[in-house]
Amino acid sequence: MPMNKPQSWEARADEYSLYGFTDLPSVHQRGAVVLTHGEGPYVIDTNGRRYLDANSGLWNMVAGFDHKGLAEAAKAQYDRFPGYHAFFGRMSDQTVMLSEKLVEVSPFERGRVFYTNSGSEANDSMVKMLWFLHASEGKPEKRKILTRWNAYHGVTTVSASMTGKPYNSVFGLPLPGFIHLTCPHYWRFAEEGETKEQFTQRLARELDETIEREGPDTIAGFFAEPVMGAGGVIPPSEGYFQAIMPILRKHGIPMISDEVICGFGRTGNTWGCQTYDYMPDAIISSKNLTAGLFPMGAIILGPELADRVQAAVEKIEEFPHGFTASGHPVGCAIALKAIDVVMNEGLAQNVRDLAPKMEAGLRAIMERSDHIGELRGIGFMWALEAVKDKATKQPFDGSLSVSERIANTCTDLGLICRPLGQSIVLCPPFILTEAQMDEMLEKLEQALVKVFAEVA
Ligand SMILES: *Cc1c(COP(=O)(O)O)cnc(C)c1O
Repeated sequence: MPMNKPQSWEARADEYSLYGFTDLPSVHQRGAVVLTHGEGPYVIDTNGRRYLDANSGLWNMVAGFDHKGLAEAAKAQYDRFPGYHAFFGRMSDQTVMLSEKLVEVSPFERGRVFYTNSGSEANDSMVKMLWFLHASEGKPEKRKILTRWNAYHGVTTVSASMTGKPYNSVFGLPLPGFIHLTCPHYWRFAEEGETKEQFTQRLARELDETIEREGPDTIAGFFAEPVMGAGGVIPPSEGYFQAIMPILRKHGIPMISDEVICGFGRTGNTWGCQTYDYMPDAIISSKNLTAGLFPMGAIILGPELADRVQAAVEKIEEFPHGFTASGHPVGCAIALKAIDVVMNEGLAQNVRDLAPKMEAGLRAIMERSDHIGELRGIGFMWALEAVKDKATKQPFDGSLSVSERIANTCTDLGLICRPLGQSIVLCPPFILTEAQMDEMLEKLEQALVKVFAEVA
């Protein structure tokens, strides 16, 4: 231990913690925000300042930061059976019940569930499962993975390779065999004069041509978020999933819906694939699964993949994969409660009820501003994109760090929102009241007006 330990919480955070996904100039200038507790959708820092967290933590704290029922479910399970694994033919009763529940609330008639500790691990495990499956079915070359630019599927070596973000180049990623298709963002990527339908058709053609070029028997699977979350809240272009699903089916390529953000109510329905009306072969869940109270991810296999994977496992008598804490009884007990809270205590309903107000409020802000180029989103996930010039969609100079400045100004006003590229992301907890939504919209607009006056 060094002799002169720094005194403030901010300095102590700075001295001993390595920040992940953090804009260092902002923390160097402003210090870290060190939090002690939460009340509803608010979090409170070591200086007693309150912030309305319009990002639900990291999309996951959908029931807010002090939900009594969830904490009680955790405490009760810690008292009853505080930990176990799911190997060697043993698992907790909570694990059995959660798998039943996940299949029941899934869009699948039947299925099987596999547990991980995070969304990244769930995607990573799904890739291993597909590699294993195809090899077992006599197609060991069927290993390439298709995703899209701007997709976010996690940070482990494989899930980072699936993620379509330029920052992964600092790790020498993606690995070979991970192919990124065009991001289905019409406003930003449409060609001159292209209609929404033509744009979608072009992306569908690109998918078909890519599969033909690479060879269908070299492609293990296609992964997509219903709405891209960390890519900047990008809903699919018009008819996107209807256009691509038949192509994947035709070539025998499994479609995996990464519902780590969209699952359990974020888009207004239980699953994003229901909102956009497609049937995947498997669903990846995490984040909302435990309402943020426990690190947990899950793969939910639909009937066909469940049967095929099971048959492949029967052949070698064991699926040689799993994590020490897979299917942890406390995590499962919390997830069972979280699903009940979201689906039966009015949280998902609140998203459906207040989404139109959120959209209208943000649209009004966009219309009053000369520097918001696009509003996009659905349910309780929205982004406003800042532009220098609305007509040409020209972005602000990157050196101005406009979205960071907006987010920092919001923080000063007691509102937490997230800068993503040149966008500001708002994805509040599902418990948000109308009054709290008004507070969010007012503070956001105040920050936008202030920052645009400084930079424009
Ligand atoms: C957050 C996220 C992940 C990764 O989850 P972690 O728990 O952070 O590993 C994967 N996919 C999507 C869509 C996500 O938003």
